[in-house]
Parts: sequence; structure tokens; C-alpha cells
Amino acid sequence: MPTETFEFQVEARQLLQLMIHSVYSNKDVFLRELVSNASDALDKLRLAALRDDTPDADVTDLHIEIDVDKEARTLTVRDNGIGMSYDEVTQLIGTIANSGTAKFLQELREAKDAAGADGLIGQFGVGFYSAFMVADEVTLLTRRAGETQGTRWTSRGEGTYTLETVDEAPQGTAVTLRLKPADSENQLHDYTSPWKVKEIVKRYSDFITWPIRLMPEAGDDGESREAETLNSMKALWARPRDKVSDDEYHELYKHISHDWREPLETIRLQAEGTFEYQALLFVPAHAPHDLFTQGYQRGVQLYVKRVFIMDDCEELLPPYLRFVKGVVDAQDLSLNVSREILQQDRHIRMMQRRLTKKVLSTVKDMMASAPERYTTFWREFGAVLKEGLVTDSENRDAILAVASFATTRDTDEPTTLKQYVERMKDGQDAIYFMTGESREAIENSPHMEAFRAKGVEVLLLTDPVDEVWADAVGEFEGKRLRSVAKGDIDLGAGDDGKDDAEKERQSEEYAGLLGWMTEHLGEDVKEVRLSSRLTVSPACVVSDAHDLTPALENMYRAMGQEVPRAKRILELNPEHQLVKALNRAYTEREDRTELTETAELLHALAVLAEGGQPKEPARFVKLVADRLERTL
Ligand code: ADP
Repeated sequence: MPTETFEFQVEARQLLQLMIHSVYSNKDVFLRELVSNASDALDKLRLAALRDDTPDADVTDLHIEIDVDKEARTLTVRDNGIGMSYDEVTQLIGTIANSGTAKFLQELREAKDAAGADGLIGQFGVGFYSAFMVADEVTLLTRRAGETQGTRWTSRGEGTYTLETVDEAPQGTAVTLRLKPADSENQLHDYTSPWKVKEIVKRYSDFITWPIRLMPEAGDDGESREAETLNSMKALWARPRDKVSDDEYHELYKHISHDWREPLETIRLQAEGTFEYQALLFVPAHAPHDLFTQGYQRGVQLYVKRVFIMDDCEELLPPYLRFVKGVVDAQDLSLNVSREILQQDRHIRMMQRRLTKKVLSTVKDMMASAPERYTTFWREFGAVLKEGLVTDSENRDAILAVASFATTRDTDEPTTLKQYVERMKDGQDAIYFMTGESREAIENSPHMEAFRAKGVEVLLLTDPVDEVWADAVGEFEGKRLRSVAKGDIDLGAGDDGKDDAEKERQSEEYAGLLGWMTEHLGEDVKEVRLSSRLTVSPACVVSDAHDLTPALENMYRAMGQEVPRAKRILELNPEHQLVKALNRAYTEREDRTELTETAELLHALAVLAEGGQPKEPARFVKLVADRLERTL
């Protein structure tokens, strides 16, 4: 097949431009990326061999080679791993399949300045393409293990690449970079210098479990010299804790997660006894952009006796810890272990329980000893962690203990439930919260009025998951969790000077109106009653204690479930002039046509006040317009 020329996809072209003009300051990392890809390719081949997938593959002496040629100014990273077929090269190298990258480019265009770009590249990582930071031409020669023909891919990163089938190619992949000319800047980063290469490999890739060999330079004397292995190949999780530096842990994290930034927290766990395993887990410092999407690849890497078995092993951590990255190395599993077996294995379930507890206790420690890091953690992952309140009853208390919430208290600092309980007023017997779309929407909702007037603290919950867990949890340390928008609220007589006798009198006074309105609005509300929630607004709607809130109803519907629309309760503020006047009109007038409209409007206003929609917006507008007209 002749050499064919192809155009890069638009996104790929943009990314390449970026690499060529290299906005990223730390160019050394290109080598880490290529070595990381090579290491993955070796892992994949060994795994295929274990499963007898590629009988014709050569799995002896799997390794990575780095070859530099000072004269030609080239650097080659070669592996004898799984390699790529012609189709795979077009799919994996010519296009950018990763949706994250498209998002990355968009943000990059918005960032514009170099400092912003630096941060963004660090955020997404760009793998193979980072070669173009240091090279003006890149050639990739690859042969898929078990196949006979190879593929050569070449590009200068300028919009096109060429592809060619070759008859003779060693198994695996060789990436050759023609390094940019050495100018004053590049003098400092001379990647043809063996010292420089050694230093980079040692710094970024020491833990890689395959030998990384530096090929000897052809000496002037023609003497052949030995290739030198640059990395220690020691699995970090198997080394004594105090023998591993933070930097080493961080580099492993970057290799595993494809995140270029430091992790927030490193967690080690060593389980001895009948079922032995080691775990090295990381909490990232930033939530990935796709954490809440369907296709999010969760899970940690599973090793068995130092042999890589799979990426994204989901069985080792519950979905609400899906942001955790890392490695778990088990001694007593079979190398042939499959997903099906993992799903049923008792030991795996025990590991999951133990790892979950370990992550949660780490967060708790962070809370006590590193409050700033905890704050970052909760900002990035709190919404995910709270899913566990619904799905993991065993750890519910542990999750509640590390949760924090925005509050009506006069501060931006979130509060824990424990702190809330400590501040509770005498006689207050519940932890009050309100859910909603935003802090502002909640704070302006009429449901909050009495709480504000009496200085009772309310937690402000704005994550979608809050709608679900708050009901499921029920209580914390013996205190009920109560929505301010549900059921009867009695903040106790006293502060507002209203005693039981006064209430009794009011309910008699309004009995007729309430009964009449309940009947008239019966299609939409199950009851009209007097409110102890309101101090300013004339009316509000609340849910019955055991009914779903409208937000939750919508959520279930969005998930495709049928839920009947629960009728709600309309509460009136007996102190409000409008309500008083309405009552007067009700008792005095014979003809109530006008009043039925007023009742309807009052209901619509209450719905609007909490951010909802009147049932018939057009009718609502007409009624209001008619009345406005009469005031002119
Ligand atoms: P990433 O490594 O983040 O997936 P890259 O752009 O670095 O992104 O690589 C894209 C894909 O190309 C890899 O996922 C892998 O499938 C393939 N690939 C890259 N390098 C190699 C290699 N040395 N051997 C086999 N496949 C490779």
C-alpha cells in the first residue's frame, strides 16, 4: 500500500498547534507521557498472553527502550508491547476521541493567556501529542502483537499525517521524535543528553514496573556498551512507607489518572492475614468534568501479585467513591480473574468495605488536621459523597460526620451537623434544612420567614442529591432532620407572642374562609390552613410530611418513573393585610365570584414565590392584568 496523506480532525489540529507553540512550561513531561503509553502497551500484552488472546505474540523480555542520536537530533521511545493495527492507529492517533479534550480546547480558547493555558494542559493531559512540544516531526512505527504487517505514521503536526503499511516492523511501538533545533532555550533542555534523559525517567517514571533501558551511544572506538536500566521498577505500594517520597507517589498518581496535577491526598493500606493485599489510593484535587455523566470510567487498577490485571476495577469501591484513583494489589486472586468472578467474590466485597472505611476515615482526619484541604475536598466531591447517604446505610453515620453544609448563619463558612446541633436553641428539637436550586432562591423563599424572624438556623441544600438523602437519613445524633417546606412547623410559642389561646381564636375566625378555599382550590391543593411559617408573605405552599417534594417528583420523572403529582398544602398568613381583607370580604359578601379569583391568585403567588410556575400562566397574567387595570 502506498503512503497516504490524511487530514487531522479539527480538534486534533488545534491541539497540535498548541503543542507546537508550546504554551506548557514543563516540556520534560513529554517523555513521561510516551513512557506511560509504552508501559500500558506492555501491561496489555502481558494480560492478553495470560488469557491466551494472542498466541503468536512474543512475551519474552518485555521492556521499554530509549535511544538518542545526538547527530541526527532524534529520540526514540520503543516498546515491544501490544502495538497497534492500521485501524487502531487511525482511530487512536489521528483523531481525538476523548470528549474531555474537546472541552479542554474550548476552555483553552477562553483562557487565552499562557498562564491559564498552562493550568489547563495540566488539567487534561494530552498524552502522545505532547511529543510536539519538543519535536518538529514525529514518526510512529508499530506492529500489533500477533499480526504480520506494521504501520508507519508520520506527522509534522501541521494539519496532515501520513500512513503507510510496512512489511518489516518489530512487535510493539517505536515513537521517534526529530527534536526541534537547539536554540538558547533548548540548550537547557537537551533531550539528546543521556544525563537529561536519565534524570527525567528517574523523576517521573521510576515506579514503572517494566525495565526502561537507555541504549548506549555508538562510541567512537566502535566498542559495544551495555544498555543501562534507568528505573528501580519497584511497586511503590510494596515498598516501606518511609522509603517513598511524596513526589514518587504523585508521579504514580499522574500515570494512573492521566491528571497532570498533584493529588489532594495519598492513602495507603496494607491488609495482612488470610487475604493479603496492598492498596495505594489517591483523592484528586479536582473533580473531573465528567464525574456525573453516564460513561464515567470509575474504579482503581487491580494488580495480582504485582501483575497488572485491569484498569477501572469497579468492584473495589462503591459508586459514591468513584473519584478515587489508585492501585490495589491482591496476593491471593487468580491471574485469570474475570469481572464476573470479581462481582461474586466474598473477599472482594470485604476489600470494598475496608477500602471504603479507610477513605472515609482519611477524610475525617483531613477535617481535623488539614481544614483547608478538607474544604477543597468537600467542594469538589461533597455532592458525590452524599450519594452514599442513600446507597450505603452501613457508612451513613461516617458520611454524615464528614459532611458540611451551607447555612443561614451569618457566615460563608459551611457547618457540620455536629456544629449545628451544638448551636441549637433551647427547645429546638430538629435540624432544619431547605432544598432548592440555589442559595439565593432558598433564602428568598417564604418558607424561611419565621425561621429568619426567630433566628433559627436552617441548612441550605442545593445539590440535586440533597432532595433524596435528607428524607432517607431521617436523623442525626437523635435529632430529626426536617425540611422547612414540609409538614407542620411549630417553632414554639413565645417569641412571636402568640399563645395557644390566640391561635385558637384565629382558627375560629378563619374557619369559614379556609373551608371554602379548600373546596374551591381542591383540584390543586389538599388543604388550606393557617401558617406559622410566614411573617412577610401572604401565603406559601408546603408539602405534606410524607409526600415527595416537587423537585423530587421531577427528578423521578426525569429518570422515567411514573409518579402521581402530590397535592400540596396552601398556608395563609393570618397577620397579612391581604389575607385579613379576604376573610372580611368572605364573611360580608354574598357574591363570591371575585373572591374565587383572588383565592386562585393567592395560590399562584405562593407557587411563584418558591420558584415554581402557576398552573395556567396565561390565565394568571390575565387575572393580574385585569386587576391592575382597575387600580388606574
Ligand atoms: P492516552 O494515553 O491518554 O489514552 P494518548 O494520546 O497518549 O492518550 O494515546 C492514545 C491511545 O493510543 C492510547 O490510549 C493507546 O491506545 C494508543 N497508544 C499510544 N501509545 C501506544 C503504544 N506505545 N503502544 C500501543 N498503543 C499506544
